Amino acid sequence: MIRMLMWLLLIYIGYRVVIALTTGKKPAAGNRDAASDAAATYQDPVCGMYVSEEDAVIGKLEGQRHYFCSMACLEKFREQLDHKP
Ligand SMILES: [Zn+2]
Repeated sequence: MIRMLMWLLLIYIGYRVVIALTTGKKPAAGNRDAASDAAATYQDPVCGMYVSEEDAVIGKLEGQRHYFCSMACLEKFREQLDHKP
């Protein structure tokens, strides 16, 4: 009985170590930052300008994220959506 508990404890510790290693290698937040630093430019659908995520005005329209260079472009895009049939 004690041997069995020892095995369970070992398996549990092994499991914890694996979890720690796999999550330690890939920190979710750190990875996202690195990725967005590398190439996070979006094209403004109104004027065609490229904007970085930091500078962009982000509009959530029709369940999708759109990136604009300015509020003016966001407003124009919203107007275009309103005039769609
Ligand atoms: Zn624009």
